Amino acid sequence: MRKILVIGAGQSGLQLALGLQSKGYEVTLMSNRTADEIRAGRVMSTQCMFHTALQHERDLQINFWESQAPRIEGLGVSVAAPGSHEAPEGSQRAIDWVGRLDGYAQSVDQRVKMAGWMETFAQRGGQLVIHGAAVSDLDFFAGRYDLTLVSAGKGELVSMFGRNPARSPYDAPQRALAVSYVHGVGPRPEHPEFEAVRCNLVPGVGELFVMPTLTTSGRADILFWEGIPGGPLDAFQGVTDPQEHLDLTLDLMKTFLPWEYARATKAELTDANGTLAGRYAPTVRNPIGRLPSGGLVLGVADVVVANDPITGQGSNSAAKCAASYLSAIVERGERPFDEEWMQSAFDRYWNTAQHVTKWTNAMLGPPPEHVLNLIGAAGQLQPAADRFANGFDDPSDFENFFYEPEKTNAYLASLTS
Ligand SMILES: Cc1cc2nc3c(=O)[nH]c(=O)nc-3n(C[C@H](O)[C@H](O)[C@H](O)COP(=O)(O)OP(=O)(O)OC[C@H]3O[C@@H](n4cnc5c(N)ncnc54)[C@H](O)[C@@H]3O)c2cc1C
Repeated sequence: MRKILVIGAGQSGLQLALGLQSKGYEVTLMSNRTADEIRAGRVMSTQCMFHTALQHERDLQINFWESQAPRIEGLGVSVAAPGSHEAPEGSQRAIDWVGRLDGYAQSVDQRVKMAGWMETFAQRGGQLVIHGAAVSDLDFFAGRYDLTLVSAGKGELVSMFGRNPARSPYDAPQRALAVSYVHGVGPRPEHPEFEAVRCNLVPGVGELFVMPTLTTSGRADILFWEGIPGGPLDAFQGVTDPQEHLDLTLDLMKTFLPWEYARATKAELTDANGTLAGRYAPTVRNPIGRLPSGGLVLGVADVVVANDPITGQGSNSAAKCAASYLSAIVERGERPFDEEWMQSAFDRYWNTAQHVTKWTNAMLGPPPEHVLNLIGAAGQLQPAADRFANGFDDPSDFENFFYEPEKTNAYLASLTS
């Protein structure tokens, strides 16, 4: 059977390793951390995944936490009224609606999922190597495998894959990220009967995402600030004490989004590793890495297409990339995984990924007037709210009603005529 080496045990690497294993490939997975280290380590993401991505996990029967994780049935958008944070007692929402998802979304803490998947991979007879791979390791190992896949996220190995400037409009981070996992958030008064991700936009300042998750200590909520660099939310760099991180998160919520703060006054961190802060530049890379000895490796998911998490797409994309590559590998049969095949495997994934990148990069900039109109109109037009929400599952639909004023206007007119 063909031998495949997978570097990096995240969403894409583990999904691919488990998928290839189930199809009889001889898979070696190299991870820089053990399952226990991942489980006891720092949170890595907010990892909200929508229907299509979750279905890829179901297809491989690795949706082990589906019955325990909260079902996220809606996606809400609130926009703080201009100037409201200057007079917090009068703070209001200029916009507030929730769209219903056709299929539910779920967030399973990557510490739970990756640790569990890694153990499953080993129990099923997979070769698990705990080692942080360097380029020299890849050079040594790659020749012994039919195919080497680099799914090491945004780590140092990305340097093997050249940046694609035509597909990477930003060369610096567009948001400062600050995540807190908490217990004790109260029910959502707007729609207590179902769970939702809430996107709270503070124009010119940033966004707060609030979502339920399943973490190492059970059900929890995530408070996730995305701050425009240099602005008032860009305040977490250098904060090392987790409690201080949470206090700052809550203070900023009180100032900018008092309706979200009202639910969170009793919030407590899930654990001492329940916070994360950082930033990175969204980057699309060339998919093929060339090793010093001339061997070729194929980049997977974040290695080749890393978008800002403002649209919550990275894990979804990682699942879609893994599913797409799995099909491409199986279809290849016994033929060589050469450069042409690698490029075609990536191009097939890019057919989906390009829509994610285009939409995410658009959401990072100030919204044009027709987008503001669309988001505003969704408060009165439930089909528009629902369609926007379901765009998180399939961002290609935004081509039909989001980017061009004519298409947005025609869509809104079709709902009111
Ligand atoms: C704050 C934040 C919030 C997010 N929220 C969401 C969200 O709500 N929804 C969503 O879909 N996405 C979200 N994302 C993005 C998502 O987490 C990532 O895009 C996704 O995890 C990428 O999967 P991956 O398999 O490419 O890489 P990763 O999940 O990063 O996995 C890579 C793995 O490789 C390992 N590794 C690195 N270097 C080496 C090496 N040299 N040798 C061996 N192993 C190595 C790493 O330790 C890691 O385990 C968020 C990201 C952040 C930062």
